[in-house]
Amino acid sequence: MKKNLSVVMALCISFASAAQAVDKYIKEKDVRRIIQTLSADNMMGRPAMQPGRIEKATVFIEKEFKKIGLKPLPGLKSFRQGFQKEQMSLSQADVTIDGEKIKPENLVLLSEKTEINITKGLVIQLLTLDKTAPNKDQYFFDKAFSLVRDTSSAIVLVAPEFQNNFHEFKGYLTRRFKSGKKSTKVFVLGKSSASSYSIIAKQTVTTIQMNNVAGMLEGKTRPNEFVVFSGHYDHIGIQRPVNGDSIANGADDDASGTTAVIELARHFKKTNDNNRSIIFVAFTAEEIGGYGSQYFSKQLDADKVIAMFNIEMIGKPSKWGKDNAFITGFERSDFGTILQKNVKGTAFQFQPDPYPEQDLFYRSDNATLARLGVPAHSISTDQIDSDKLYHSVDDEFGSMDIDNITRAIKAIALGAKSIVDGTDTPTRIDKAGVR
Ligand SMILES: [Zn+2]
Repeated sequence: MKKNLSVVMALCISFASAAQAVDKYIKEKDVRRIIQTLSADNMMGRPAMQPGRIEKATVFIEKEFKKIGLKPLPGLKSFRQGFQKEQMSLSQADVTIDGEKIKPENLVLLSEKTEINITKGLVIQLLTLDKTAPNKDQYFFDKAFSLVRDTSSAIVLVAPEFQNNFHEFKGYLTRRFKSGKKSTKVFVLGKSSASSYSIIAKQTVTTIQMNNVAGMLEGKTRPNEFVVFSGHYDHIGIQRPVNGDSIANGADDDASGTTAVIELARHFKKTNDNNRSIIFVAFTAEEIGGYGSQYFSKQLDADKVIAMFNIEMIGKPSKWGKDNAFITGFERSDFGTILQKNVKGTAFQFQPDPYPEQDLFYRSDNATLARLGVPAHSISTDQIDSDKLYHSVDDEFGSMDIDNITRAIKAIALGAKSIVDGTDTPTRIDKAGVR
């Protein structure tokens, strides 16, 4: 009798345990503490380009992973997964066309040489307005960036009508990394001909250290199959001041997702029933081109990654209110359907992305792994079509709905259970369909 009773009780416990475990291990007070720390002013907006400013956040996440009891990834001695990027910056430029010295604001010079001295041999190209183009801005950026990608050495004379576009274009290209291109390209605003020219310039190369923070829990029975939980911990740093505030705290984007990654690590460490290995990773450099996830994706065999839960902006309630989140690229695999099945019986709903025109599937780190066939999706609650705080200095702790974040994290933990324990394996994403 006693024995039978314990069998019955064990069964009951296993049914209820998943939902109970999320309530037991994922706590609002931890969520609040972590997101408040990551989005504090002393984190300086966590810019990946400025190692001195993002370091504090790196150290904080490492400490959390250590406290929880994660292990470094195979082959690494710490939670830092570091890599370097070489940044080019112009230190001196003296450009004269037909005897006229070009002002720095009207000049964009793209080259990977440290010393430039050119007076002949460049192709002269014109970027002028096509009056039949339906959208002037789109026309300019399409043309300008295709010229950036083109590998010929040239002077591109940009028509004065593009003055505003030109300054935005210059902003995009001020910070750029070495790509190995041999050509030199000079964009000049406001000139329409160049029969003689002289381009004398000096550039410096700075090596920038960047670090993902990654830890893992080894799988009990299928250690060579990996489930990834990720969020990016970098943000856009210090911006132009608005009402005296210049720190873009990135509370929602993406301290909220990073908080989720840490809390999911705590949860799965405690439940201790992951048959598959789980990697928890806070990516760097998402905001400046996704370099952190690109490096990460090259350090493992994507075929062994069963699923990627990328969590991006869960700090405010969704367009359907709380207890709802959407999944980008929902229709590309059955990942979302599995999550929905696992939260059945709770109030929570995982929905397809309601903003297809925003192209969110491509706007976060999941796309990098999706290109390799991994069912890699972003989970979000952001009302991106009307979010006034997005990439502003006002995306700060005070605007966070801690209850919304906690509920979303719990639902992700519950939704992931059958993937983590090896019961479910989402279908692969068709690589050919990911651009
Ligand atoms: Zn983001």
